[in-house]
Amino acid sequence: MDEFELIRRFFDRQVSASGVVVGIGDDGAVLRPDSGRDEVQVIDTLVEGVHFPVGLDAADIAYRVVAVNLSDIAAMGARPRWMTLALTMPAKDEHWLAAFSTGLFEAAAAFDVALVGGDTTRGDTVVATVHITGDVAPGEAVLRSGAKPGDSIFVSGTIGDAAAGLDLLQRGEHDPYLVRRFLRPSARVALGLRLPGRASAAIDVSDGLLADLTKLLQASGAGGELLLERLPISEALKARFDEPRRTELVLAGGDDYELCFTATPASVVDLPDVTEIGRVTPGDGVVCQRDGKVVEYQNHGYRHFQ
Ligand code: ADP
Ligand code: MG
Repeated sequence: MDEFELIRRFFDRQVSASGVVVGIGDDGAVLRPDSGRDEVQVIDTLVEGVHFPVGLDAADIAYRVVAVNLSDIAAMGARPRWMTLALTMPAKDEHWLAAFSTGLFEAAAAFDVALVGGDTTRGDTVVATVHITGDVAPGEAVLRSGAKPGDSIFVSGTIGDAAAGLDLLQRGEHDPYLVRRFLRPSARVALGLRLPGRASAAIDVSDGLLADLTKLLQASGAGGELLLERLPISEALKARFDEPRRTELVLAGGDDYELCFTATPASVVDLPDVTEIGRVTPGDGVVCQRDGKVVEYQNHGYRHFQ
């Protein structure tokens, strides 16, 4: 199986996606953006052994690399449209590629994003990079920098599940719900599309709630109060992890891909599955409180090259 055969078999699904003038097969894809819309470009790489455990099912790797990019698109309040994939792998293993392709197109179909090109290379470990182009009404992209003192802080879904799932996976334990929350992150695209005009700022939770909220507030030149007793925690996480590990997973565990955003409560009353978890304040830094008492919490999220 040569390179072209591989691409044809596993990646070239003739999609008649809107705006695709030329898809896979030429030197470049030709795309036709809707006139007058702003484009949003995101890219994210997953490296075996760094972002996911060695030997993870290829379908999960593929789904995940699409979902983490969709999460960035969602955090901008944008609509996903087209993606490209750069895939590096040690060998041309047909079973692996078939699984990878299945996971990839599962995510693509679920979120209506078309694969329009890519690159396929051989290397020592699996490295998957996806780039997604999305769009949004002009000037409507939701930035990190718009939070104002007095706004409330919200988060979608439940927090800490993915880090808990990864923790269990690495210890060879299983919990179907928590492990799946790591393997198949829920990109909040539908919620993201409802944020323009309502949210003053947004970020997706990839490095940990506290670290990502801190980034949003720094970009906005503001501080925040985080009310720990309000954090949305799943029953599965509560059942599996006791304090203080539970709070550590919720505040510092990454990989949730939920959305954290700021808004006035009145502007988001009709949004499903979001919880108010604090308030934007003047100044800087995040102060954590539990039941009215300030608690010290030290964490800076996951960083590379430290
Ligand atoms: P070139 O040598 O011109 O870069 P390639 O052989 O790398 O061309 O790719 C041929 C076509 O297949 C291009 O349209 C490219 O975008 C597409 N392609 C290559 N690898 C992938 C992949 N993993 N997923 C999707 N499309 C791919
Ligand atoms: Mg070429």
